Amino acid sequence: MARRGPETPWEVRASTLARNTNNLIRNIIENLKVKPNPEKKLIPLSLGDPTAFGNLAPPDELLQAVRDSIDANESRTYGVTNGQLEARQAVADYSIHQGRVTADDVILSSGCAHALELAITVLADVGQNILVPRPGYMIYMTLAEGLGIEIKYYDLLPNQKWQVDLESLEKQIDTKTAAIVVINPSNPCGSVYSKQHLLQILDIASRNRVPIIADEIYEYFVFSGHEYTAMSALSKDVPILTCSGLTKRFLVPGWRMGWLIIHDRNNIFEKEVRKGLRNLCGRLLGPTKLIQHALPTILKSIPQHFFDGVNSYIESQATLAYKALERASGLRPIMPQGSMYMMIEIKMSMFPEFKDELQFIEHMYSEESVLCIPGQCFLYPNFMRIVLTVPEDILREACERINVFCKKHAVFKEKAMGIVATSLSVDKEWKVIY
Ligand SMILES: *Cc1c(COP(=O)(O)O)cnc(C)c1O
Repeated sequence: MARRGPETPWEVRASTLARNTNNLIRNIIENLKVKPNPEKKLIPLSLGDPTAFGNLAPPDELLQAVRDSIDANESRTYGVTNGQLEARQAVADYSIHQGRVTADDVILSSGCAHALELAITVLADVGQNILVPRPGYMIYMTLAEGLGIEIKYYDLLPNQKWQVDLESLEKQIDTKTAAIVVINPSNPCGSVYSKQHLLQILDIASRNRVPIIADEIYEYFVFSGHEYTAMSALSKDVPILTCSGLTKRFLVPGWRMGWLIIHDRNNIFEKEVRKGLRNLCGRLLGPTKLIQHALPTILKSIPQHFFDGVNSYIESQATLAYKALERASGLRPIMPQGSMYMMIEIKMSMFPEFKDELQFIEHMYSEESVLCIPGQCFLYPNFMRIVLTVPEDILREACERINVFCKKHAVFKEKAMGIVATSLSVDKEWKVIY
């Protein structure tokens, strides 16, 4: 480009990275063409933030730890870029379920999203790809695409509790694959993988020599009868970068405190990746010292019954929503085993007036003021996601409204079913054949 001077008109462009960075959920939800029904109170079952309604709050020990941190001079000074030793040691102690972890294996980050960014950018170059689950949390796309890192999707199986379609996973791997992302427990599916299933995934990674990025921000978020196992605890050779943080389990998403843990039994990351991570930390100079300083207290002082209480609350919400939505015409909820979400299939053939599930969701929003996330936000059409952390009476009300909406719009296809029925028997008949 020619040099510019006073005669040239102003033109300032955004960088390629900026132009090519997208957040699918925000783009779709913020561009909805409809407004909620002014006569009904809005219920956003769309917000993946357990603190949004104020019914779930962190324990006072945690708040006090940060109040104390404000008074400490060390919480104001610059820190080391990978996080303070005491805070990293506290994360290492907290994470022993993941296998042997030392303070050296821990990098503190600004939320789990930043840990994921470190993991992706340390492993993948322009032109390489990372494999992510579909449906899956979409931040990977937001983080990678602008950098010229390709996202490839492997499928999850809705009828097998959202387990990984192992064949589809292995097929996606090519010479340019830099990492496989595994989200367990899952957002948006609520699935929790068994040891055996995690070993199957590890076997594929091992045979193909691809490292794993384990997004375990929902570690320990499991319902009774299910067990969470850290991927890293099972790996014999596959190097793993595990990402987690305070956000979900400690109910403080706004505090932006997360971490990345390096699991590398065979020293595969020793050659470059460990150093690369340290280099990348130099870009942001570490996450907030205010929370780092409080981290040892936060991670050690919260009584177990607090976490148990949150889990059993979410489980009872899941049961409530499952039972209520199972009755709805044209819907098929899939019972989660953990995390804080539920996916619901919308049998679009029963709603011929809507072109796709986004239209279904828009109409439900404008008639019933209930907002769910359309499956296409997770590249998974014909489904919607709801959050389970909303207050019980609100969830109940939302499910009732969803039922009303479905009853009003579901069309029973005589031809397909071969019988004529009232909407009541539609439900019954459909459940049998589905
Ligand atoms: C919420 C969430 C994150 C991001 O967590 P932050 O700590 O807020 O950055 C990452 N991964 C998954 C699967 C999530 O649901």
